[in-house]
Amino acid sequence: MSSKAASGARRYRGRFAPSPTGPLHFGSLVAAVGSYLQARSLGGDWLVRMEDLDTPRNAPGAADSILRDLEHFGLQWDEAVVYQSDRLGLYADALNRLRRKGLVYDCGCSRRDLEEGVYPGSCRWGVAEGREARSIRVLTNDQLISLDDQVQGIFAQSLESTFGDFVVLRADRIFAYHLAVTIDDALQSMSEIVRGADLLDSTPRQIHLQRCLGLLTPAYAHLPVAVNAGGQKLSKQTFARPVGDRRPAEVLFEVLEFLGQEPALEMRGASKDDVLAWGVENWRLSAVPRRNKIPYRLKAPF
Ligand code: GLU
Repeated sequence: MSSKAASGARRYRGRFAPSPTGPLHFGSLVAAVGSYLQARSLGGDWLVRMEDLDTPRNAPGAADSILRDLEHFGLQWDEAVVYQSDRLGLYADALNRLRRKGLVYDCGCSRRDLEEGVYPGSCRWGVAEGREARSIRVLTNDQLISLDDQVQGIFAQSLESTFGDFVVLRADRIFAYHLAVTIDDALQSMSEIVRGADLLDSTPRQIHLQRCLGLLTPAYAHLPVAVNAGGQKLSKQTFARPVGDRRPAEVLFEVLEFLGQEPALEMRGASKDDVLAWGVENWRLSAVPRRNKIPYRLKAPF
């Protein structure tokens, strides 16, 4: 047993949790590499979890192609890859616990009933007559939930005024991302979550669920989001180019630059293993910029 474990300190555990909606692109690779380097530089574990619950959005073959791409970049994960679709019973248990505590309620509102924005709590005291329960929502309150993000700094939200009671089981009977991610991060003993800053806004909802369920809150580090020349987040919708067919060492060098790590020039032209080893050796979370420094001139067209 290591002295850390013997002294009771929590072992560092981080993860990359892609949704298999398409192949890995530069933006998702940034989250993969950033979480990997943070974990490895601290001598911790790095896990991969496939967030494949949103079946209508899953792309056939995408989970396998993401794993192949991670290998292509030399990102070796620990433990078996976890698939959320195998863990439905765990999310159902969590929902039952919330139900027993009186923290969730059935909602009969349809999308059409609701303006985009804050849910007004229409079903808090029961589903209206003649309506059927469609989704399940968790109660929120007006207390500020704040976190001290390692990259983005202090971030605080009142859930009730920002989102209102939010959905934990969708009308299509799919467990909501916030519920599944909260359960998995806790059950997999994640000590820190390193991911894209587009999810910063989701974090207070996940902290709320942790509190409702008596789970530990991990540390958070939200990395800058890669955007294209038009300022849009790189994604399948913006036709981000897959990175799996590019030379891995070159892309890894660009990711290190993007994350403010100023890779040594001799790393240009080095092997992917050397670039990654340089990244682990020299990783400084404190050097990661909060935002994509625009204009960031990535060599490859996106
Ligand atoms: N599956 C989510 C996504 O690909 C990320 C979840 C997370 O890192 O918490 O956007």
